[in-house]
Amino acid sequence: MKKEMIRIENLKKSFGDLEVLKEVNLNVQESEVVVLIGASGSGKSTLLRCINFLEIKNGGRIVIEGEEIDPQTHNLNEVRQRVGMVFQHFNLFPHKTVLENVMEAPLHVRNQNKSEAEQEAKALLGKVGLSDKSDVYPAKLSGGQKQRVAIARALAMKPDIMLFDEPTSALDPELVGEVLATMKELAQEGMTMVVVTHEMGFAKEVADEVVYMHDGQIWERGKPEELFDAPKEERTKDFLSSIL
Ligand code: ADP
Ligand code: MG
Repeated sequence: MKKEMIRIENLKKSFGDLEVLKEVNLNVQESEVVVLIGASGSGKSTLLRCINFLEIKNGGRIVIEGEEIDPQTHNLNEVRQRVGMVFQHFNLFPHKTVLENVMEAPLHVRNQNKSEAEQEAKALLGKVGLSDKSDVYPAKLSGGQKQRVAIARALAMKPDIMLFDEPTSALDPELVGEVLATMKELAQEGMTMVVVTHEMGFAKEVADEVVYMHDGQIWERGKPEELFDAPKEERTKDFLSSIL
């Protein structure tokens, strides 16, 4: 049986009076790719941020690789090493080269030695197709290249799980494909991934499960062909027709 990487039970999150997540349940198995879709404001980012403990839940349980994480007592930095995240905006360090950006966390968070960190960072840049950009500063890169550096940087922490929050939404259309291709490769290598995206082609091709969120709840879920071609809920149909 495959290992359960993420188990979320009755997760609740509010900001003041605003209930943003209402009893969300979600399981993700090892090497599974789950794509989260839903209208703006439905709680997708908040869900990812709770899984990564950038937001602290108000109720429910979050179990990562079999271990329930209690934010009160757990070292959350250790959890964030296991659960990498890539955002819509890349936030690379502008005054560091591409290679230095990728080496930053291994050197300063994982206390890796420099030559080892450098070797691994170079290998990761090769993997995302940017070996020739090692010594360049981020300002010289296209948006798609920056996002691939951001992916390499997240991978440098050797995460077991990767979360992606609309990684291609800020990109010019012609740059979307190269980032999706990198993500697809990662999926094929067996990375466990939760991806918020509006790229339905990617979802159809790569997702094991598609989860439709509405109003802080998981409204419908299924295999891509089920959810896209034969949605059961009216709301899912409406949402899909609004984006396709
Ligand atoms: P999505 O990613 O699906 O667009 P979000 O998770 O970003 O949705 O937001 C869900 C709701 O929570 C929205 O109404 C948003 O305004 C609200 N929200 C998100 N983050 C905060 C915050 N830090 N403080 C207050 N409200 C927030
Ligand atoms: Mg969002």
